[in-house]
Amino acid sequence: LLILGIESSCDETGVALVESSGDAVPRLVAHALHSQIEMHQAYGGVVPELASRDHIRRVLPLTEAVLTESGRSLRDVDVVAFTRGPGLAGALLVGAGVACALGASLGKPVLGVHHLEGHLLSPFLSADPPEFPFVALLVSGGHTQLMRVDSVGHYELLGETIDDAAGEAFDKSAKLLGLGYPGGPALSRLAQQGDPAAFKLPRPLLHSGDLDFSFAGLKTAVLTQAKKLGEHLEERKADLAASTQAAIVEVLVKKTLKALQETGLRRVVVAGGVGANRLLREQLDAACARQHVRVHYPELHLCTDNGAMIAMAAAMRLQAGRQQASTEYAFDVKPRWPLDALE
Ligand code: ATP
Ligand code: MG
Ligand code: FE
Repeated sequence: LLILGIESSCDETGVALVESSGDAVPRLVAHALHSQIEMHQAYGGVVPELASRDHIRRVLPLTEAVLTESGRSLRDVDVVAFTRGPGLAGALLVGAGVACALGASLGKPVLGVHHLEGHLLSPFLSADPPEFPFVALLVSGGHTQLMRVDSVGHYELLGETIDDAAGEAFDKSAKLLGLGYPGGPALSRLAQQGDPAAFKLPRPLLHSGDLDFSFAGLKTAVLTQAKKLGEHLEERKADLAASTQAAIVEVLVKKTLKALQETGLRRVVVAGGVGANRLLREQLDAACARQHVRVHYPELHLCTDNGAMIAMAAAMRLQAGRQQASTEYAFDVKPRWPLDALE
């Protein structure tokens, strides 16, 4: 089964081909991506209307690129998958509209995918895919959740952020430090030259006894520190970046360990953009190695949004019999859509 996947939920247009046969883990055939980051940088964040228009410009050329690269044609595609939500309504409509138009014109069924399920299953695109069941730490720009994953479609929410997401904490702190948008990667780069113990920043909800997170207070603490430093901020910026990163990572690692303890599971899957963070990988690997727990990550370039994870999620849902592709081309999108509400 050859699945074409289209991602357009936010500021990345992604298209990919994934092939599945029998019970084997589906295989990535080709993928192409265009990031709008540069376009939105001037505004310090994503401008929804610009995002939609750019998806329109990019999606067909990217589709042609993956077909050419893989030596396949549109006729070879069996199912067209797209991101149905959550995300920006206008941006989602572009991917959904194009997917359904392609499906209708080819006479092939379509399948709407949950963006977070795409992130969650993205480690299955790596050379050493995980096995079920596992604890998932989903850390993206809009979400921070711990989940118990028993199989495709069986997701139990264990805890989540009550305010900002981890990626948002990185981005907002980076913005305060003048590091541009999205600041996560820049902050983590600067942090390498800083002292993570230089500033005492809060570890919100670290001892709350549950598996929830809170990062809004951290951003305020970073702002307070930055103001206090005043004209000395520039020379202490790397220290403040390192301290911020250490605070976020410590909470993520400790709560993940707690989720392992509570579920009794021996495997962790990390997914979402913050999963690219080096310190998080180092500290989680070290902590889990001590407890003989396996950790799986998506490949670095597949941590943030991409079409491969959407095609993969569609392939795995079909394979598991969780969903059927449909020839009902009257599409809708779900800008707000909790993962545990997935049928
Ligand atoms: P969602 O998936 O929740 O809708 P999103 O799609 O915007 O949100 P992703 O694309 O998964 O989120 O991830 C983007 C986020 O990851 C941004 O907040 C970005 O700063 C962060 N990020 C990317 N690389 C790193 C890194 N190396 N260190 C820290 N944060 C990072
Ligand atoms: Mg993005
Ligand atoms: Fe995402």
